[in-house]
Amino acid sequence: MNTDAIEKAMLHDPWDREHLWHPYTSTIDPLPTYKVVSADGVRLRLADGRELIDGMSSWWAVIHGYNNSYINHAAIRQIKKMSHVMFGGITHEPAIKLGKMLLNVAPPDMHNVFYADSGSVAVEVAMKMAVQAAISRSGSHNKTNFVTFRSGYHGDTWNAMSVCDPVTGMHGAFGSALPVRYFVEQPAIPFGGEWSHEAIEPLERTIREHKDELAAMIVEPIVQGAGGMWFYHPQYLVEARRLCDKYGLYLIFDEIATGFWRTGRRFAWEHAGVQPDIMCIGKGLTAGYLTMSAILTTKDVADTISHGEAGVMMHGPTFMANPLACAIAIASLELLDNTDIPQRIRHIETSLRRLLAPAAALPAVKEVRVLGSIGVIEMHRPVDMALFQKECVKRGIWVRPFGRLVYVMPPYIISDDDLRYLTEQMIEIIK
Ligand code: PMP
Repeated sequence: MNTDAIEKAMLHDPWDREHLWHPYTSTIDPLPTYKVVSADGVRLRLADGRELIDGMSSWWAVIHGYNNSYINHAAIRQIKKMSHVMFGGITHEPAIKLGKMLLNVAPPDMHNVFYADSGSVAVEVAMKMAVQAAISRSGSHNKTNFVTFRSGYHGDTWNAMSVCDPVTGMHGAFGSALPVRYFVEQPAIPFGGEWSHEAIEPLERTIREHKDELAAMIVEPIVQGAGGMWFYHPQYLVEARRLCDKYGLYLIFDEIATGFWRTGRRFAWEHAGVQPDIMCIGKGLTAGYLTMSAILTTKDVADTISHGEAGVMMHGPTFMANPLACAIAIASLELLDNTDIPQRIRHIETSLRRLLAPAAALPAVKEVRVLGSIGVIEMHRPVDMALFQKECVKRGIWVRPFGRLVYVMPPYIISDDDLRYLTEQMIEIIK
């Protein structure tokens, strides 16, 4: 067998290709998948023994790197006590301790914690909370809709899809099956750009016109992730807060991707200094070990729901507050507390700016942008993902572009040498 054939046999499992669905793939013509057998630190080990430097943190989640001994120990300790117990009528120390830790670092107005299963479910729960609270507060059953920015991404479940970008998101496939939301243009003024008040006028018009139907505004603060890896001006959030207060809407921040220092602040709301009424967190919460999310609310939102017709928050998943996931999240938060994280992220940010700068001069590149530990190269034309990833694997890195975007958000523990190699190889491939 030649090397290509060996690689194919070891890395691309034909049974997998025939039977397993991967994210956003066709069963007729699936994109290739690479078999990973283990992972340690920032390295993924492939079935043929090669190692790849991970630039993706497994989609924002693996903030401390893979196979972290501190988190491993916490997980094993918890497994020996109990991996799971129902949360209905029962409580446990991991849920209580994690809740206290989260409220300690959350926006000061946050008071109640709801544990859920994933980012998308957190968005569903947040939207349900907003609707229950808006009906309870206004006495009107019409205040059930949402307004959001274009180019957002909030997950793949039904309501989450409905507030994703209507053109580049899932509306094409699901059309009239989705609830119809109000969209205003994407915040055009970049993070670090010069603010102009005109930028907020479309939002004000939409909210003013539809305030009687609107329960809430939902946005990803500062960084729009999967909808375009776009960093926008913090003043949008200041104005959004003002408009929500003026017209009686709740404000939901989806911090699922931006939370736990990814943007250089513990949470992205801190860039703007305005607090939401409801906030979703996930991904880095469990450092990429298990799926779990949390929805935090003010006491006012929580009590308004409880004073409403149902009298309770109408959600309660089987794996709510899973003790194993809570124990892992506690260990991850302890690790963050025991490191000088602001300094670490500043260092990654400065390095990414320097290392990615040469890409800006390439004719195929439209723009390079960096915020915190997120580095983005926006191309003029869409990237061939399969070809790009084949090149990445050949060179020993793991980057997964989408559309016109090639980007990295590595685990925070990445060394200077690995970050340099990762970014240099990325730029070589683009060349
Ligand atoms: N909101 C945002 C901002 C996200 O980036 C994501 C995941 N990419 C989600 C929600 C959905 O999270 P999950 O994939 O865990 O359902």
